[in-house]
Amino acid sequence: MHLNPYGEDAVNLAADLANRRPADAAELADRCRAAGLVLDRPATAQDLAQAVEALDAWEKVVDATDEHERAALLNAMLASATAYPRLTNHAATGWHVHYRDDHQPLGRLLLSLISVGTALHLTGRGMHRLRRCDVTECTTIFADTSRTGRQRYCSQRCANRDAVRRHRAARSARSAPPKG
Ligand SMILES: [Zn+2]
Ligand SMILES: [Zn+2]
Repeated sequence: MHLNPYGEDAVNLAADLANRRPADAAELADRCRAAGLVLDRPATAQDLAQAVEALDAWEKVVDATDEHERAALLNAMLASATAYPRLTNHAATGWHVHYRDDHQPLGRLLLSLISVGTALHLTGRGMHRLRRCDVTECTTIFADTSRTGRQRYCSQRCANRDAVRRHRAARSARSAPPKG
């Protein structure tokens, strides 16, 4: 996976892993590979533990209530995850920038990728563009990459669900007897 200028793939991978936590190291590796990561060795239990720790920290960034808190939490992740940027062509797929030391295990690599990807996403597209779904019972996290930056729901399904509920609420408000 190459970090694109807006960090989109990395921030989407973070949301995917946070929304549905991998059950074991093999699943973690499979899902990272499916997202385009090049892994040079099998994932271990330690990788999984580090990934879970990174996702827990990342969810606090998601749930931060203002942008200064969000930036401070993400800066703490960046401080623990990143090294000086360097050019690499490790997979012979083209030169790109890494923000970590070479030969990091998957857990460390994910922490770095998630932190940098989220930083690029928020600064490139807008500090508010990382959130949970607006439907109360839905806790799904998503990165808002929409054109307008006003995405409220994780999916069309949740948008429809909420539209039906608002419609019903409006109708019952109209038909209710006036309160005296
Ligand atoms: Zn790379
Ligand atoms: Zn939802």
